[in-house]
Amino acid sequence: MQTYKQTFEPPSPSTTTPGFDTLVVGAGFAGAVMAERLATQAGHRVLVVDQRPHIGGNAYDRHDDAGLLVHPYGPHIFHTNSNEVFEYLSRFTAWRPYQHRVLASVDGSLLPMPINLDTVNRLYGLKLSAFELDGFFASVAEKVEAVRTSEDVVVSRVGRDLYNKFFRGYTRKQWGLDPSELDASVTARVPTRTNRDDRYFTDTHQSMPLHGYTRMFEAMLRHPRIHVMLGTDYRDIVHLVPWKRMVYTGPIDSFFDHRFGKLPYRSLQFEHVTVAPPAPGGFVQTVGTVNHPNDHLYTRVTEFKHLTGQQHAQTSLVYEHPRSEGDPYYPVPRAENTALFKRYEALSEQVSDVTFVGRLANYKYYNMDQVVAQALVSFKRLQQTPALNTPAGAA
Ligand code: FAD
Ligand code: UDP
Repeated sequence: MQTYKQTFEPPSPSTTTPGFDTLVVGAGFAGAVMAERLATQAGHRVLVVDQRPHIGGNAYDRHDDAGLLVHPYGPHIFHTNSNEVFEYLSRFTAWRPYQHRVLASVDGSLLPMPINLDTVNRLYGLKLSAFELDGFFASVAEKVEAVRTSEDVVVSRVGRDLYNKFFRGYTRKQWGLDPSELDASVTARVPTRTNRDDRYFTDTHQSMPLHGYTRMFEAMLRHPRIHVMLGTDYRDIVHLVPWKRMVYTGPIDSFFDHRFGKLPYRSLQFEHVTVAPPAPGGFVQTVGTVNHPNDHLYTRVTEFKHLTGQQHAQTSLVYEHPRSEGDPYYPVPRAENTALFKRYEALSEQVSDVTFVGRLANYKYYNMDQVVAQALVSFKRLQQTPALNTPAGAA
């Protein structure tokens, strides 16, 4: 991997043949997978450009001033059911098994989230068995004709009281919208359990990159045919550097200069704090993340040492404060936004030399593994394109 500084020095990929086969916009999961595949499998010369001063996109991690490994753009926990995705990424990193656990601060107690048998028993002072919990949920669940919204999903499963205590406030804070205004898919990400399983995810693969995400991205992009240019908006170089194809992983509405209007994105402000835990080398929280559905302006607090397994006298936490303005972190899943995205998607289908990959380019609430899977599929599709098989300068 070769990197270039913010000041523009047009990279020359070869002394004999100028130009790149592919310009990849964005050095996150979507861009890194595409660059790696194109360079190693299609023999392409690839220029990866990112406006940020680092690779990794939102999954970027780094050591803070105290030497603690932190995720500047919020906690990233890797989990997937896809063997293909896990095996692909395993070429670039070793792993540390990690199962994420979350507690929700409700009515003065810290209770397991997703809602499970212990959550209900502790909240209501009951002694239900796993067999009885289904009946309990059935007795409190609301009848919903067609489950359409994020409110419908929850009240039809666990009733109004649990909805109000665990979901309504959190969702209103996180999205600036009532759950009734959001697609069902948003709160459906969080399951309900009748057993005592208190893991946040149940995927077959749950691990963190052993040396962090950035190290993994470095390994993906370390190839003589991959050049990385950081701190550069692609618009500043797109007409200066010759390229044949583009892979675009930024916001799709921005690519088309917001022609049909802006797509809404939800943003966050991350408040990072590094503190001395009660016991040296210990923790402030008993689990990786504590959610605050009803108290405070932030939604959740994550303590990185749980995720990374790092041993350190101090500990570092991040508080997530939802914002309407700022970096585009979350597409906002609701019908009117999907309709607007579809108009941009139709435009994107007319731009034959650009492939749109990733969470922002597809306006989909994708997890990391879904972005990797989508990029692998996009590459395979591109491989079948005749143009891809004639790299610039191919002898
Ligand atoms: P990004 O990582 O956003 O990369 C796109 C890149 O394009 C960015 O680096 C951007 O700077 C660059 N770019 C955009 N426009 C331009 C331009 N004009 N010129 C140059 N560069 C440009 N997923 C999980 O699986 N587990 C988690 O625990 C998890 N936690 C998350 C927590 C938070 C707070 C957030 C916001 C997301 C989380 N995700 C998680 C989702 C995960 O971050 C994404 O799925 C993944 O990072 C998306 O990768 P991407 O390459 O599509 O986009
Ligand atoms: N959610 C909630 N209460 C919680 C956790 C999640 O209401 O304690 C809702 C909320 O709308 C959130 C969504 O479920 O945005 C998805 O949660 P997830 O933890 O998957 O969010 P992410 O990690 O993507 O921010």
